[in-house]
Amino acid sequence: MAGYVWDFSEGDKDARDLLGGKGAGLAEMTRLGLPVPPGFTITTQACREYMADGDVPAELRVEVTMAMRRLEDAMQRHFGDPADPLLVSVRSGAKFSMPGMMETVLDVGLNDLTVHGLAAFTGDERFAWDSYRRLVQMFGRTVLGIPGEEFADALDKAKAARGVSSDVELGTDDLRDLVGAYKDIVREQTGREFPQSPREQLDLAITAVFNSWNTERARLYRRKERIPDDLGTAVNVCAMVFGNLGPTSGTGVAFTRDPATGRSGVYGDYLANAQGEDVVAGIRNTSGLTELERLDPEAYEDLRRAMRRLETHYRDLCDIEFTVERGKLWMLQTRVGKRTAPAAFRVAVQLVDENLITMDEALDRVTGAQLSQLLFPQFDAGAERDLLARGMAASPGAAVGMAVFDAETAQEWAAEGKEVVLVRRETNPDDLGGMIAAVGVLTARGGKTSHAAVVARGMGRTCVVGAEALDIDLPGRRLHVGPRTVHEGDVIAIDGTTGEIFVGSVPVRPSPVSRYLDDGLDVALAEAADEETAELVVAVDRILTHADAVRRLGVRANADTPEDAARARRLGAQGIGLCRTEHMFLGDRRVLVERVVLATDDDERQAALDALLPVQREDFVGILRAMDGLPTTIRLLDPPLHEFLPDLTELSVRVALAESRGEVDPHDLHLLAAVRRMHEANPMLGLRGVRLGLVVPGLFALQIRAVCEAAAQLLTDGLAPRPEIMVPLVGSVQELRLVRDEALRIMADVSQETGQPLDLPVGCMIELPRAALTADRLATQAQFFSFGTNDLTQTTWGFSRDDVEGAFFPQYNANGVLAVSPFETVDTRGVGRLVQIAVEEGRAVRPDLHLGVCGEHGGDPESIRFFHAVGLDYVSCSPFRVPVARLEAGRSAV
Ligand code: ADP
Ligand code: MG
Ligand code: MG
Repeated sequence: MAGYVWDFSEGDKDARDLLGGKGAGLAEMTRLGLPVPPGFTITTQACREYMADGDVPAELRVEVTMAMRRLEDAMQRHFGDPADPLLVSVRSGAKFSMPGMMETVLDVGLNDLTVHGLAAFTGDERFAWDSYRRLVQMFGRTVLGIPGEEFADALDKAKAARGVSSDVELGTDDLRDLVGAYKDIVREQTGREFPQSPREQLDLAITAVFNSWNTERARLYRRKERIPDDLGTAVNVCAMVFGNLGPTSGTGVAFTRDPATGRSGVYGDYLANAQGEDVVAGIRNTSGLTELERLDPEAYEDLRRAMRRLETHYRDLCDIEFTVERGKLWMLQTRVGKRTAPAAFRVAVQLVDENLITMDEALDRVTGAQLSQLLFPQFDAGAERDLLARGMAASPGAAVGMAVFDAETAQEWAAEGKEVVLVRRETNPDDLGGMIAAVGVLTARGGKTSHAAVVARGMGRTCVVGAEALDIDLPGRRLHVGPRTVHEGDVIAIDGTTGEIFVGSVPVRPSPVSRYLDDGLDVALAEAADEETAELVVAVDRILTHADAVRRLGVRANADTPEDAARARRLGAQGIGLCRTEHMFLGDRRVLVERVVLATDDDERQAALDALLPVQREDFVGILRAMDGLPTTIRLLDPPLHEFLPDLTELSVRVALAESRGEVDPHDLHLLAAVRRMHEANPMLGLRGVRLGLVVPGLFALQIRAVCEAAAQLLTDGLAPRPEIMVPLVGSVQELRLVRDEALRIMADVSQETGQPLDLPVGCMIELPRAALTADRLATQAQFFSFGTNDLTQTTWGFSRDDVEGAFFPQYNANGVLAVSPFETVDTRGVGRLVQIAVEEGRAVRPDLHLGVCGEHGGDPESIRFFHAVGLDYVSCSPFRVPVARLEAGRSAV
């Protein structure tokens, strides 16, 4: 061991980096004494070296030879033995599961001679030829790159010639002929014979698995799931067992609990007389596990025992792949199973109640992304709906969109801004792009473990599968259900929780979990439609409560109005981290702003500002009342003033038109001159934030006075307002000092006028690299910092957020410059480094400096982890993200 090759008996579940998820699972099951066919794993290290050098490491060939000999000894069979051949599967398996993305070749070792040995040994000639034709087909497609349709067409021809509809009905002779036809295809397509040497088959299959790491669709999937591109895949070589040896054999997939709902109890799909891929491919509709129980109670009992063993061992929901060969159970794969968001919460709490995990662990088993999924609206059961058909509920949610029948169209239409539901007979990995583009996925075939279901669940896409009533006419771009027809572009609605499919749009209503968050547990439980919904709401409540108990980070909200503030508070916000004051200058108040801008002397300007004072004070009274007792960080005016004035082009046209009629309004002329004067080529870096406050006399003073008077008024009413004054876009300590001195003067004045003590904290935003780098100086004048990570990202990268996202991020994404937009997840290396410097140097000067973040990143799970680690006191995000932030802050702490 310790080289490139590990026998299954050498590894364990913690070696996923090296053995991949599948290899680690096979090793763990082997250690547990479960019936796993013997085999070995080629490490991801070998794959990485192959990718770097373009060739497999020389030692690998030797190690594979040695491992094959050990495997032969264990199986008492020989690879390539014409009398009784050992056959193997060659299976991909990366660290993070990428369902259906990469390649597997079964039945490696069959050739024109060994096929007879297999027939003789099993006593089943038909089976042997069926296995051989599967090998040529899979090998041809995945290793030699021959289009799958070539083989599918040949198979269809063979079925047509016999007048049968299913491959199970083909006889030995048909299959023998089919192998001949397949070999012809290989010769025509590649200019060489199908390799007869088993070792050559093995070596080619191994490199094909390595290569499958870098297929287009695998890269796309990794980008979507944020899996690094340089991990590589392991390769598992595993002795074949046969589910296609007649009616006492079969293959299946099973979960230890229902991955869609979390309901406990064995659950899965079974297909008698079939091999591996048949279940997942959705080629035939499968039966439930009860079918196995009926056919073979003993094998079923063995399966149940193995599953219970695995669940106890992993202390989590596991999924497994198994095969029954003539009544004997074989375990072929296990892993901690993917699950829907509701299942994740229910299962976590169930396991706590079964004393298998702690609450801390339960918290770690769910994610903020899953919680957000639970907030999706659902179809209104009371509304009028036109039921078209029913399928199986595979991934929850309510999706309404235009039906499209292929992935390409889905992507095109989605790019035009349309909402689409991708409708397919069954999906395959090439449909991934379309599944990402669609709001929902609907298939006519396949079970809950089909490709469509697994992938859709993984990405939280609403999905209904196996709606057998759908008769999809792909060339005609329509589908029929009995006499009814749905054309491409017609709106349909699918319910991923019930499996229902509706024609036309269906209204949606808030989910039970958002009812819980908005109105509390009692209301949500009273409204819960069933036991399962109630269980889910309770699970969310318990886990969130635990998150609140363990988290160190506070969670505040960005809110500008009393309504938003109240909502945020209900959702658990512990204050407002960012109250923007921009809206206080909009609407009817624009006239007042115009007067400030157009003022020709100090008196005129002061009069205009004075008119703004009472309205701003009322705004602050409203918000501070809603946040009574909680800190409320009020940001002084940030955007450039001309944003409140009419648009230059529009105004110019208006004035020109008026001029041509000889009836110009002198006010408009005045305004036009001002707008021209204030026009900036680069307003984001122009006269805004603190600069504006220092250049327009009285502006910040007005706002500060409004805050102080509002606070004094509420204090008089016996409330506990806690406003904090925040200065935006500071780059120099002197800017901050000037504003702060003025603020202190105003506080003292208002205190004296009202008799109320006012000692409001004054702080600044850190959103310029210079601010972060001079944090030690700023901290002498600031009682708190709030990181404005949107602007800080723009100014650190020199990216204009409004311009770059569509323009070149997609390409930067494709060529690996950016794995994810730095506006979505904080760039820890660059922007994060600046945050870190400001935290350390600011606190060195002022140990009680209070620190928070108020950019979009405050609601992003990965960024929250970073802010926790770097020692911030709180994150602030939009109100609806507050529960997600609470959960993620809790997860960061356990
Ligand atoms: P995936 O990662 O797509 O699930 P797998 O490597 O698990 O691919 O293999 C695909 C299918 O082939 C699975 O259904 C699996 O159970 C089956 N299979 C793999 N190896 C063997 C084997 N040694 N004997 C029988 N079936 C196998
Ligand atoms: Mg598998
Ligand atoms: Mg900003």
